[in-house]
Amino acid sequence: MSTIAFIGLGHMGGPMAANLVKAGHAVRGFDLAAALLDHAAEQGISATASVAEAVSGAGIVITMLPAGAHVLSVWHELVAVVPPGTLLIDCSTIDMASARKAHALAVAHGCPALDAPVSGGTGGASAGTLTFMVGGDAAVFAGAKALFETMGRKVIHCGGASAGQAAKVCNNMILGISMIAVSEAFVLGERLGLSPQALFDVASVSSGQCWSLTTYCPVPGPVPASPANHGYEPGFAAALMLKDLKLSQAAAQDAGAMTPLGAAATALYQQFADEGFAGKDFSAIITLLRDKTDTR
Ligand code: NAD
Repeated sequence: MSTIAFIGLGHMGGPMAANLVKAGHAVRGFDLAAALLDHAAEQGISATASVAEAVSGAGIVITMLPAGAHVLSVWHELVAVVPPGTLLIDCSTIDMASARKAHALAVAHGCPALDAPVSGGTGGASAGTLTFMVGGDAAVFAGAKALFETMGRKVIHCGGASAGQAAKVCNNMILGISMIAVSEAFVLGERLGLSPQALFDVASVSSGQCWSLTTYCPVPGPVPASPANHGYEPGFAAALMLKDLKLSQAAAQDAGAMTPLGAAATALYQQFADEGFAGKDFSAIITLLRDKTDTR
């Protein structure tokens, strides 16, 4: 079993680090928030007072941080103190440019690196059922696969440096667009006098079928576990969807890709956040569409 340093013990990182402990690893954790360190200690994680203290004696370092600027800042600290050969893994969702910079920084210091963003949310982080989408050298990935499997159920090597982040933004752009598409259909159905259950029964076995409809239905009733049945409490907050859609649009601009529906979805989630609903589940976007639908 390895000694692993885990930096960023928030909603996702805390339970992921706890699952590493359950799998028998020695985990040394650090977060800027003292309360999270106390909680981590209760889960068997050795709480430390700095990045430098956390990485002492660790052969693997995992970061789970809010955005690219945080990751680059921490990785600059890391490469100054870890010995060459230390495996650096970033599981945060960050912009492509920062992901590439982080890889280059690691390689320049003789450290193998992987970008390994996740999907599955806080529930998946706690249950150890996350999906990992991983970018980096194939041999480095092969050596780390078992480690990801202690925190997740599906582990997919997507290609070289930053390919994991590419997969993450593309997937979440599909999700943002498809949730709006499903929501528009339910609002139109309501205006046409169609019951939500009837629309669900047809679309869920027809060509409209998708995850946003059958697993995460934005109207209450057809899928009892979806946030629509619980006041749209997240789940996956609209603020996080907006973050990921913005990353997709930055990536599209850099790469010269045409993503008109991604742009429209970004604008709608921005409006939703501006109206004060950033903390609601992202499926609550249906309430914005319903409010704005012409009732004449
Ligand atoms: P969070 O805000 O709960 O946790 C981030 C933690 O990083 C915080 O506790 C913060 O104190 C810590 N931090 C920031 N700067 C630091 C530093 N310099 N040193 C040490 N700690 C530092 O966020 P989260 O929900 O855990 O998300 C983490 C990442 O996972 C984000 O990139 C997010 O987009 C991604 N993600 C989140 C979800 C989700 O459902 N929450 C799902 C998939 C992916």
